[in-house]
Amino acid sequence: MNVWGYWKCPYCGEVVRADHKDCTKCGASIPNDVKFFMDTDKPVEYVDEAQESDEANWLCSFCRSQNPAEKDHCENCGAKRSDALGDYFSKPEKPTNEPEAPAKKKLSSKARKRLILLGAVILAILFFVWLFKPVTRTGEITGFEWERSIGVEEYQRVKESGWSVPGGAELVSSNREIRSYRQVLDHYEYKTKRVAKRVQDGYKVEYKDLGNGQFKEVKKPKYKTVYENERVKTPVYRQEPIYDTKYYYNIDKWKQIKTLDTSGSDHEPKWAETDLPTSVSAPKYGDKRQGAKTEKYYAVIKDHNGSTQKIEYGFAEWENLKTGDKVEYKTLRFSDDPL
Ligand SMILES: [Zn+2]
Ligand SMILES: [Zn+2]
Repeated sequence: MNVWGYWKCPYCGEVVRADHKDCTKCGASIPNDVKFFMDTDKPVEYVDEAQESDEANWLCSFCRSQNPAEKDHCENCGAKRSDALGDYFSKPEKPTNEPEAPAKKKLSSKARKRLILLGAVILAILFFVWLFKPVTRTGEITGFEWERSIGVEEYQRVKESGWSVPGGAELVSSNREIRSYRQVLDHYEYKTKRVAKRVQDGYKVEYKDLGNGQFKEVKKPKYKTVYENERVKTPVYRQEPIYDTKYYYNIDKWKQIKTLDTSGSDHEPKWAETDLPTSVSAPKYGDKRQGAKTEKYYAVIKDHNGSTQKIEYGFAEWENLKTGDKVEYKTLRFSDDPL
């Protein structure tokens, strides 16, 4: 529905309903550059159906006065509509009281802030990727180091337990024990939770300037946030034990009791001298043999700062390195230590 707008007389300041072309107080004519508005102090008055029009006034090119859309000739001077200068909305004058502009600007500055923040986060991620990307450096070999170790194992009778008895073991006892737990639904708990809901709260009435003294009444639904208590059902579980038979047994096996270590700062690695056998057929308690071997090989290098670093190599590669060789190694940008 359309309602009547108002215009303000530039001579006496009277606020005049837009269906009057002359000031109701002083008689002055409506100005050519009139700007219609809704006056909140005045009652909202609906336009008769017969008078309703959604089309803007056109501007006479000759006398600049405004004319309703349904007129083909200027009401003031008779000039033709086809020569019109445009309409009410193409006037260069800016409306006097428009509160919307600053709100729009505020929103765009908020969006810009968010964009700047996003950019900063991406930059920070890129910086850390760059920082932690390994770099290759070159050093010169100045020496070597090595470490070798032979495990010594003794055949022993050991006490063990488990959920089954391995072959060759001598069972001592068994017992029913908790092997694992299972989650079982015990009951439900009801809690109340505050939930925010958006509900419609009447209408907001807005008026759209139609450019002919009339305003279109637009009803927009208004929303508000209300809080409601909601009942939430949550399951509560209990742990239920699962029993099984646990076996306690004695078993004869090789156990590592010590290691025979050798090391050096040269290029000639040696294993420790030992006369222990590597395998024993039909072992008895107290028999000993050689167990697992471990070995480590390092090249000592002088890095780009002139300080000493150790780099670990596999034996095959280490064996072929020579003092004075230039080697590449990986390190971090902010560190000199090899990775
Ligand atoms: Zn007046
Ligand atoms: Zn005219």
